[in-house]
Amino acid sequence: MKPVAEIFPFLEHQKNIVVTFHQKPDADAMGSGLALYHFLVQLGHKVTVISPTNWAGFLSWMPGCKNILDYEMQTAKATAVLNQCEIIFCLDFNTMNRTKNMEPVLINLPCIKVLIDHHQQPQVEMFDYGISDVTKSSTSEMVYDFIIQSGHADKINTAVAECLYAGVMTDTGSFRFTSTSSFVHHMVADLKERGLEHSPVHENLFDNFLENRVRFFGHVLLNRMEVFYEYNTALIAIPQSDLIKFNVKTGDTEGLVNFPLSIHGIKLAAVIIDRGDERKSSFRSKGGFDVNTFARKYFNGGGHFNAAGGRNTEPLDVVVKQFKAAIKENKEQLSSYQF
Ligand code: 5GP
Ligand code: MN
Repeated sequence: MKPVAEIFPFLEHQKNIVVTFHQKPDADAMGSGLALYHFLVQLGHKVTVISPTNWAGFLSWMPGCKNILDYEMQTAKATAVLNQCEIIFCLDFNTMNRTKNMEPVLINLPCIKVLIDHHQQPQVEMFDYGISDVTKSSTSEMVYDFIIQSGHADKINTAVAECLYAGVMTDTGSFRFTSTSSFVHHMVADLKERGLEHSPVHENLFDNFLENRVRFFGHVLLNRMEVFYEYNTALIAIPQSDLIKFNVKTGDTEGLVNFPLSIHGIKLAAVIIDRGDERKSSFRSKGGFDVNTFARKYFNGGGHFNAAGGRNTEPLDVVVKQFKAAIKENKEQLSSYQF
């Protein structure tokens, strides 16, 4: 994989470009993708954003969202665009299986592939150009760096700024995680100077839910959470019947895993959800417990040191048993945590 800056000469002439990101995109995937879209369009390129799957309704306020193709829902249209594509930017993921049904198509695309991502263990052999940096707070921060490095900082308009801010703010837990470097604050200051209004972004992302989502959180925190104090661990396991009862939609469970982590002494928090076709897990840790390794070892997943996820085909009760066995295996590390 050659350095990402070597792609700049290719951008001097009009190109057919696709921007994509991981399935079920979060605000960083979507924000970095749409920011890059608004940037490249201003440079005169023909750009299409393709999401491997649908996304949470609370992201639909993002400027440009209406133009995104959903690969699962609009497969023929998206395939036609991919066949014309000369450069594809892959954002906020680094293994092809994070694009679900798009994976075989993406692997076989003959176009130039560019990676911009901050997760661990990238499949670098899959990309022609790119940057993979686990010290970066977010892919949105990396797209900001990319724009600055390109020499076109003047193209950061309010649409670009809002999308980048949404990504960096959510991926840093509203600027609380240790990944929040001084560069992040410099970037946000720069976005503000370029006209960003940050308050509406917070409202759009956090104060935009339906009543059923809030009641669903109440239900699972009361009835589905188990705390294992001897392991400094808490688990929320959610059967599919809860999702149906509370009419839970894509994205409604975002942020749930942070609640058990707010209990004093909890070092590892997990949410395992029966989504019908698979059991999806989310892991968060505080301090020295590496959930990326934990998710890779026991749950076919991965992610970052303190935030990771995975997926299983086994039934929910089996995955819960696996989780309990896994924390037992890691007892020494989990129980030795000092407060
Ligand atoms: P979340 O719990 O919010 O779904 O994901 C937390 C982090 O772990 C994200 O950075 C996400 O990209 C990563 N992640 C989530 N699920 C998976 C998975 O199934 N496989 C891998 N490799 N990473 C995941
Ligand atoms: Mn990210």
